[in-house]
Amino acid sequence: MKPLLSTLNRDGSRHFLHPKLAHGRFLNRRRLVGYSLIALFVLLPRIRIGGRPAFLIDLVTREISAFGAVFRPTDGFLLALLGLTIVATVFWITALFGRVWCGWGCPQTIYLELVFRPIERLLKRHPITKLAVYAALSFALANVFLAYFVGTDRLELWVFESPREHVAGFSLVMAVSALMLFDFAYFREQMCIVTCPYGRLQAVLLDRQSSIVGYDATRGEPRGKHKKSLPVVGGACIDCHACVAVCPTGIDIRDGLQMECVGCAQCIDACDDIMTKTHQPRGLIRYTSQDELAGSGRHLLRVRTIVYPVLVALALIGLVWQTTARAETEIWIDRISGPSFVTLPSGEVTSQLLLKLENRTETRRSYRFELVATPGTLRSALPSWEVAPRHSVSIPLFVDLPRSAFIAGELRGHVRLTSDAGFTQLIDVTLFGPDGGPR
Ligand code: SF4
Ligand code: SF4
Repeated sequence: MKPLLSTLNRDGSRHFLHPKLAHGRFLNRRRLVGYSLIALFVLLPRIRIGGRPAFLIDLVTREISAFGAVFRPTDGFLLALLGLTIVATVFWITALFGRVWCGWGCPQTIYLELVFRPIERLLKRHPITKLAVYAALSFALANVFLAYFVGTDRLELWVFESPREHVAGFSLVMAVSALMLFDFAYFREQMCIVTCPYGRLQAVLLDRQSSIVGYDATRGEPRGKHKKSLPVVGGACIDCHACVAVCPTGIDIRDGLQMECVGCAQCIDACDDIMTKTHQPRGLIRYTSQDELAGSGRHLLRVRTIVYPVLVALALIGLVWQTTARAETEIWIDRISGPSFVTLPSGEVTSQLLLKLENRTETRRSYRFELVATPGTLRSALPSWEVAPRHSVSIPLFVDLPRSAFIAGELRGHVRLTSDAGFTQLIDVTLFGPDGGPR
């Protein structure tokens, strides 16, 4: 009886896999794709488009920068469209090409199979050196990973300045490095088999026409020792286990489509080599579909391969339209750290506002503020605020008011923003004061 998971021994302990490497056409292609993607992963947060990173999910400022466009929590509809575009694209690609992402694009597979495993094979007799190289690589990868969430500038401060000045940031870098080391040195394929939700969704995302790595049982069975004269139909598999020995998740593809298969095509390269050596045609294991293996043809047009691209197109059109239709200046009220008002010795109250303003145009703009239909006097550190193209600034404003202006500690007012290019916007603001006025 086989254990439940290929990475478990029958007594429940971990079965460590040491897959062999199968050279072949798919390995060459995966190396080309994988190393190009590694270069892209490293460069993407470092490339600047309009002064911003090409891609950044900034957890500190709560902004997403994607190829020149900036999305904030206030862009709820845009973010929903962005999310829908990504999800529908993933569903569409999976319906067409199966787990191509897992085998060819996922950073977990790419780093494990194309970086850590080659080092393991190279340093298998030097475990301490291997661990030191793993640790250094994990630190580098943690920096690549975190650059997508905190930005390269902030990350460099955390890493290169004294840890005492950035205790939280430095601790985060070290914690993520430790997690990377745990993942690539120990956890490995369990990430795909046990943890990854995408792998678990395959049963619903794939249909019988989706591309899979499959074993042609009609051609292969009955398996057995290599005979000089092979039968015309069946008997092609010589049961050499080469396909199992190279599998990074430890499964036997001859058992049929399995959730553990990440579509890496290593078993195709291994079996093609055996087929060549035994003078048989390649492709006993190949990219195919469940229907094709059962003798039916391939159909590109299915309900899901029509619905998903339509959804992607609609979401993309909406996304581009909404992004280009956004106002040239974005303004929103930011959180104030510290008290939101102070009571002066004269009894007057100074209420504080913090506005965040983004100039989305390609030219420098100058902005002014004034109070509209609101009692009090507006004070600003500068008479007008100059903002560089595609930049944002935080602008503190102060409103001096009599204590009696507040009702239950609040005053609803309006601030008008005007730019030198004629842009104007009325902003509804809530000014806070002492809870001493009439109710
Ligand atoms: S590598 Fe090919 S021939 Fe060898 S066991 Fe696997 S399927 Fe059979
Ligand atoms: S069965 Fe083949 S394609 Fe699937 S994970 Fe194993 S080696 Fe890769």
